[in-house]
Amino acid sequence: MKLHGQCHCGAAEVSFETEIAPKDHVVRTCQCSFCRKHGARTIADPNGRLDVSIRQDDQIARYQFAPATVDFLVCKGCGTYLCAVLNADDVSYSTLNINVMDDRAAFSSVDAPVSYDGETTADRIARRISVWTPTRVVVAGG
Ligand SMILES: [Zn+2]
Repeated sequence: MKLHGQCHCGAAEVSFETEIAPKDHVVRTCQCSFCRKHGARTIADPNGRLDVSIRQDDQIARYQFAPATVDFLVCKGCGTYLCAVLNADDVSYSTLNINVMDDRAAFSSVDAPVSYDGETTADRIARRISVWTPTRVVVAGG
């Protein structure tokens, strides 16, 4: 199935292809300070696919903080946190904030708090490549 979402003002939208029903996704609430400040609830499917379409590129920040291994896509216009994207070789991987989904209520499983504080940077990148969703980010109109 294909699930649609977007930031509040529509500067960026996402299309998430997955064979996992929304109610069966594990909803992770990462305990890092960035995710808690946004109230992020995230999902990923290594067998799925995420397409991020950016309509207004000047509105979408690629926020980073130490150790800066991923870009957190945040809309500067409406403040929405969309997803975190790891760029590895020629493929990208992401974890998606389900708060941006049109039918976010369908992700009904109980939130699973997770903390990755003990990880090394190399472990962190390896975990993301194995569990995050293969992703393509496209900026509309170049
Ligand atoms: Zn926006």
